[in-house]
Amino acid sequence: MKFLLVLCLGFTLPVVAQNNKKEDKKLRKDLERSITYLSDDKLEGRRTGSKGEKLAYEFITEEFKDAGLTPAGTNGYLQPFTVNDGKTIKNTELRFGSKNLVAGDDYFPLSNSVDAKFTSVDAASDVMFLDLEKTFSENSTNVHFDVHQHISEIAKKAEASGRKALFVYNNSATKDDISFVAKSKAEALAVPVIYLRPSAGKTDPSSIKDVELSLDIDEESRTGHNVIGIVNNKANYTIVLGAHYDHLGYGEDHNSLYSGKEKMIHNGADDNASGTAALIELASWLKRSGPKKYNYLLVAFSGEELGLYGSKYFIDNSPVEINKISYMINMDMIGRMNETTHGLTIGGYGTSPSWPALIGNGGSLNIKFDSSGTGPSDHTSFYRKDIPVLFFFTGTHMDYHKPTDDADRINYDGAIAVINLIKNIISNDNNSGKLAFTKTREAATVKSSFKVSLGIMPDYTFSGTGVLVEGVSEGRAAQKAGIKAGDVLLQLGEHKFTDVMSYMSALNKFNKGESTVVKIKRGSEEIALNVIF
Ligand SMILES: [Zn+2]
Repeated sequence: MKFLLVLCLGFTLPVVAQNNKKEDKKLRKDLERSITYLSDDKLEGRRTGSKGEKLAYEFITEEFKDAGLTPAGTNGYLQPFTVNDGKTIKNTELRFGSKNLVAGDDYFPLSNSVDAKFTSVDAASDVMFLDLEKTFSENSTNVHFDVHQHISEIAKKAEASGRKALFVYNNSATKDDISFVAKSKAEALAVPVIYLRPSAGKTDPSSIKDVELSLDIDEESRTGHNVIGIVNNKANYTIVLGAHYDHLGYGEDHNSLYSGKEKMIHNGADDNASGTAALIELASWLKRSGPKKYNYLLVAFSGEELGLYGSKYFIDNSPVEINKISYMINMDMIGRMNETTHGLTIGGYGTSPSWPALIGNGGSLNIKFDSSGTGPSDHTSFYRKDIPVLFFFTGTHMDYHKPTDDADRINYDGAIAVINLIKNIISNDNNSGKLAFTKTREAATVKSSFKVSLGIMPDYTFSGTGVLVEGVSEGRAAQKAGIKAGDVLLQLGEHKFTDVMSYMSALNKFNKGESTVVKIKRGSEEIALNVIF
């Protein structure tokens, strides 16, 4: 969890939409209905791009329609976007003489290998062999030696000498970290490259004569869907309310905290059927009896659990001009308020000087204010475009990202209190223009075991080569070196990297106090900057 800044404000604002027993009773029934449906096993955990996601967006679409919202997606209420899933081996066969090798056990292709299809009866002239034992001993004194870069160079040599493939093997005790990395964004190798394990049967594979190889690696992607509706009051500015409705499915994307062996559905009742249900209730309230000084855009995001894909796509493809968005309210996990402490975290408190007056002290709720405009949810995508944000969150719990996050554990009174607080904030707002924006510190990120860091926030959805900088922390190495959000980092010292993973291993080669040159791409220009760790 991130560090939460706790403030105490000693005043209360008039309560507009609270304590209406009859209305709360209906609200409770509606919330129960939505959360129960969205977290039903039938929806199989609402994984982005799945059948369960479809059932969920069809439900939300119906609810938005019932509420009277005008569709604001690109396909009715829907706004489809692509999630890149990385590489997958579609087909591979490798034969040495009469022996068919087993993919995965005896060998694997490198993920940035090009496809192959050839038969050779004279392997020595058609295939280049790279013996890593030799390579490691030749480079044993070079601390900056990078085996991946080396393979890439040898592949170029193989191509230049007319070879059809490169076979790499390692009989030494020196461990290499070569594996098939689905999310690798490394530049394509010059020829097909196969890594042979000792079980391929030869201590010296270069003695093989008769080889047949076919290899087909594909890029996989799936389509996620945001659901967008608008209450158009013909106002100049728009308030965005959002909640993500996607969840973990069966945990296929490796974002589950469940450690059992049996395949389990992650229902995500709190995360985030709760916020989605609240969004639906706020939609009908805003259409029915919301203040008319603003338009209200309601967005149910998908792709959040994979790295804020839906909100990032939305902000670059918004149906309203983003400089006409006054502010954004995000609800993510508002269903597990503690019944005795009544704790609620409101993030983004520092993103506008207007928030203290609009929010007040939350009445009977015990509010922790967190000033940061960034955090582990969709409001971050709006904050990055200088839009004031608020992030509502009732706290983490034992069932977080586990199959036990079920509807019977929801605190409905707590969710109602959050909804009423949001209604108050919107009702208290007598402005009609754009709320003033202030930049905040970055939310503290998870402490890593790295000796050094640059102080950047990488964009994990970036599909190009390098590391796209999403944010730069004040006063840290990157900022001092002149690195800005939007830059793409390419190289640290002599270490080229292609994605966040290889960037991390490049970082690991440096110590505190050392300095080096960082190569970046800004627009179409490549620049070199001096950085001190
Ligand atoms: Zn989550």
